[in-house]
Amino acid sequence: MPLDSQVEPMTFVSRSFKDYLNDEVERLLPEYATIAQLLAQSDGLLVTKVYDVVDYTSKQLKHKLPLVGLSFGCQQLRAPAITFVGGIHGIERIGSQVILSYLHTLVERAKWDSNFKHLLTQVRFNFLPVINPGGMAKGTRANDNGVDLMRNSPVDAKEKVPWLVGGQEFSRRLPWYRGKNGLERENLFLVNFLKTECLPRPFNLVIDCHSGFGLNDRIWIPYAYRRRPPKKVASYFALYQLWQQTYPHNNYIFEPQSKHYITHGDLWDHIAKVVKYEFQKPFLSLTLEMGSWNWVKKRPRQLFSYKGLFNPDVEHRWNRVQRRHLVLFDFLTQATISYLNWLPNKKNKKSLRHSAVNHWYR
Ligand SMILES: [Zn+2]
Repeated sequence: MPLDSQVEPMTFVSRSFKDYLNDEVERLLPEYATIAQLLAQSDGLLVTKVYDVVDYTSKQLKHKLPLVGLSFGCQQLRAPAITFVGGIHGIERIGSQVILSYLHTLVERAKWDSNFKHLLTQVRFNFLPVINPGGMAKGTRANDNGVDLMRNSPVDAKEKVPWLVGGQEFSRRLPWYRGKNGLERENLFLVNFLKTECLPRPFNLVIDCHSGFGLNDRIWIPYAYRRRPPKKVASYFALYQLWQQTYPHNNYIFEPQSKHYITHGDLWDHIAKVVKYEFQKPFLSLTLEMGSWNWVKKRPRQLFSYKGLFNPDVEHRWNRVQRRHLVLFDFLTQATISYLNWLPNKKNKKSLRHSAVNHWYR
């Protein structure tokens, strides 16, 4: 399949986000209620657009749910953009909640913090907090069609993948199903959003928030489809060094995803290829994997609930997770604004690549 055969020019749905809300939808997706609340408190600063509406028709879910993007900050295309993504896996709703918490803080700062008001003239913020509303409403990893959105892209792994986990085409009744009809609507929304709202800009950084892997918080760089370094490994390494030098006591593990497993159909691999073929501008995507086993370790009872494997279910721990990533998110925002000061140049690109390969791939 050609890489972009399915990408259509972005159209918006003319109805507003709030038109899709009602008591039942807010019960299924409290994150939508949070978005409505943020819109009300933002004094018109937040721009919300409904990019698509999915008419979910499965037995357990019969609702029309909007695919929504929120933006604020500098509209001009000269400004770089930072994009926060959450809820690709419906069960990992802590990812959505963490970025909505951050958005709450930004909306409040925009009211009184003069430095932050100035910062808003230099950068575009995008938030896509609920990519997979069907999965979130049902409490499943996959979307309402049973497709795992992180196994759904046309990119095939170059190496042997772990059985099932690496993506499978046997059945939607098994986990990690890739789907058979190309990109699902939710993924088309994400890809189209990035193409139209982000890629025309001179620099983009994206962070996609997940949970469920191990005891530590991890920041992953692409690829998932092969073990060899990505084309932009020097840029990823420059960002990693900047983070380590600025926050030496941080306890994230910053590494290639391929260190842990190889998969088919990774969406960020697909987007990296779209960027490579159609846009020459720097675009970096990171995945934040929150170490949810920590929450389980402290509360073994969570082992017996599927939701509990991916989300903290004690209030003080939930609160701690909301605070935990603020420094990282602020850092990534500042790095986006100052991208020209740290991205590799002709002189240091080769040595950065060399260091990256030594550090991550040997
Ligand atoms: Zn995930």
